[in-house]
Amino acid sequence: MNSKPKIVILGAGYGGLMTASQLTKELGYNEADITLVNKHEYHYQTTWLHEPAAGTMHHDRARMPIDYILDLKKVNFVQDSVVEIKREDKKVILENGEVDYDYLVVALGSEAETFGVPGVHEHAFSKWTVNGVREVKEHIEYQFAQYHNREEGRDELLTFVVAGAGFTGIEFVGELTERVPELCKEFDIPREKVKMYVIEAAPTALPGFDPELVEYAMDLLESRGVEFKIDCPIKEVIEDGVILNNGEEIKSETVVWATGVRGNSVIEKSGFEAMRGRIKVESDLRAPGHDDIFIVGDCALIINEEINRPYPPTAQIALQQAGTCASNIKALVKGGELKAFTPDIKGTVASLGGKEAIGVVGKKKLFGTSASMMKKVIDNRSLYLLGGMSLVVKKGKKPF
Ligand code: FAD
Repeated sequence: MNSKPKIVILGAGYGGLMTASQLTKELGYNEADITLVNKHEYHYQTTWLHEPAAGTMHHDRARMPIDYILDLKKVNFVQDSVVEIKREDKKVILENGEVDYDYLVVALGSEAETFGVPGVHEHAFSKWTVNGVREVKEHIEYQFAQYHNREEGRDELLTFVVAGAGFTGIEFVGELTERVPELCKEFDIPREKVKMYVIEAAPTALPGFDPELVEYAMDLLESRGVEFKIDCPIKEVIEDGVILNNGEEIKSETVVWATGVRGNSVIEKSGFEAMRGRIKVESDLRAPGHDDIFIVGDCALIINEEINRPYPPTAQIALQQAGTCASNIKALVKGGELKAFTPDIKGTVASLGGKEAIGVVGKKKLFGTSASMMKKVIDNRSLYLLGGMSLVVKKGKKPF
């Protein structure tokens, strides 16, 4: 009989992959069986997906085979989709089988939050995955290709609506502003025909960012043709556009949804108590009432005590949680104290497309090219943390 504890990790994003990688360093081959389950045979850099969505980067650059990162002699990799976690039976139901665990790490990432707005799933692009953004890119190009060949509704072909002026919406529209001139040239379309809207329900764009940085970002994007509608909730997404709470209707065949995320639907389906699909974890990252289940990344809810509000879900936090999670699993397997997780926020940088970005690193505000260079350094750092220098060499971005 196999007496080694079975550690099962669900999701090969930042949180799951980093947990697996750390565990292979923390535990010897004879000390545990480690299994990683993921929908695809590759990992993708979710934080880069605004680029392939707009078509400024090929999607293959943002994804990489799992074995670029993990030694698959040390980790049993199962390519399958998680359907449900059966907590009482210590078992995970997959689309094509099931897997038993002694310790489980849930790192399945997030899904779009619609805030109850009707029509999002039916008429908007809301999947921030490799396949999701591939569809966005193809769709945008097709709008340009159709323009001269369709009699009716030509304006909505070239009207692009981004719902949400948070991190993802701003980074996406920044890339789109870079791509549009190229597409106009390619498809013989005057630049002024293209309209780009960013619609935000909150009273400011980039909530939580320093107002000076927000102003810089908005001025820059406006100068590239973006129209902001702030403090302006969307009431409904319809087949050919959006209806705003104030009654205004914007006709568009492309609505990209980026209003925030909720935890993976597997969480609620499995009966965990959750807030917007995220589990408010104990300080050691375990799900309340479950000594054997850890939650990391976007599925975990942790509170910033200073402001008594949840930390926004980020790759930065997911990567850090993975370290604590691996070390706590090691403590359970080999004996030792479990550690509490404390985020160490090093800063936040949002790209605005091209060589432009804004952000804060430490206490320093960054604008323009210096912020853009820092963004690439951060992107490369996440590669380094996941897969060391060899991954940076294979997939890294040039800072200049
Ligand atoms: P993910 O990295 O999303 O990984 C989840 C994994 O689970 C994926 O591989 C997925 O395929 C897999 N999966 C999902 N469902 C199933 C299933 N049912 N069965 C099997 N596998 C499944 N954060 C930052 O810190 N900095 C940034 O600059 C930044 N920029 C961003 C830009 C964009 C465009 C987006 C969309 C997000 C950005 N974020 C950023 C947020 C960051 O990407 C997430 O917080 C981070 O990816 C969360 O990591 P995770 O491990 O929880 O999930």
